[in-house]
Amino acid sequence: MHDIVIVGAGPAGMTAAIYARRAGRTVLVLEALQYGGQIVNTPDIENYPVMAHISGFEFATKVYEQAAALGAEFVFEKAQELVPSDGGWAVVTARNRYEARSVILATGSTSRKLGLPDEERLTGRGVSYCATCDGNFYRNKTVAVVGGGNTALEDALYLADLAAKVYLIHRRDSFRGDEATAALLRKRDNVEILYNSQVTKLNGDRRLRSIEVTSRADGSVRELELNGLFVAVGRVPENQPFAGQIWLDEAGYIPAGEDCHTGAPGVFVAGDNRAKSLRQLVTATADVAMAVTEAVKYLNSL
Ligand code: NAP
Repeated sequence: MHDIVIVGAGPAGMTAAIYARRAGRTVLVLEALQYGGQIVNTPDIENYPVMAHISGFEFATKVYEQAAALGAEFVFEKAQELVPSDGGWAVVTARNRYEARSVILATGSTSRKLGLPDEERLTGRGVSYCATCDGNFYRNKTVAVVGGGNTALEDALYLADLAAKVYLIHRRDSFRGDEATAALLRKRDNVEILYNSQVTKLNGDRRLRSIEVTSRADGSVRELELNGLFVAVGRVPENQPFAGQIWLDEAGYIPAGEDCHTGAPGVFVAGDNRAKSLRQLVTATADVAMAVTEAVKYLNSL
């Protein structure tokens, strides 16, 4: 029985482990893959206090080392279900069942897919969801980025330094992401922006060869020969394992307020899987201070 089981070892989950250990609580962090979450895909963090520049991987590693040095236990198994257990909770994985007096859900989110027929087959064969992980494979080649948020804009800018040609394909005529980044992109000679356009087909047998882009303005279809397609169309919260016990909103986020209470006694949410208007490193770690403080209050009341 742990005082607090934290589900997810991204910046939120690992910072929660630091706070909880500093509060003298026993802590288990459960993570499906590897520590770090989506921040490991960021080449350069510039908007977090103290560090002018740090890579996402280095940031995540430092947080992991800090949490582990404080005595947080990490187990790499995917949480499949949250169930009530003996006055507390159990987080169930394929192999084990971890008992907790209190649980912090910090599972973040995963890449949204385009939903095209050959997308899964061509993933890793020209289709990617991480420009900073895979961009290097496309030096001096032709690539496209899909999306109009900050991730798509930043990915396109990053790829413009590597690739010979970058298409940026967005379904509307204005970007959701920051105008400052869009302005930098418009200045690049090797970037072509296709507004009001949707990727409607992926072509290629063993690898992606071309894509079909349909204009939403006049329905015309254009085929673009490509080596790589980077999909950056947002994120989907990883809350399904908790859906049996925790109320989710229409988009699948946990609608907790600033106090991070989920509505289930002793269960708190922190980070990108909480319903909120701004998802950044600093807002994820800010949630944690509140979630752990509330979890400790809850444990003291037992
Ligand atoms: P996002 O802001 O939700 O943007 C997703 C984009 O994909 C939107 O432009 C959306 O179009 C488009 N889209 C969604 N579904 C689509 C589909 N099926 N087909 C084609 N296009 C589709 O997601 P994000 O860019 O990943 O950013 C997530 C959060 O992280 C945001 O809050 C963002 O500001 C933040 N972020 C911050 C930084 C930074 O601070 N440096 C960097 C990256 C991300 P519509 O616009 O038409 O809806």
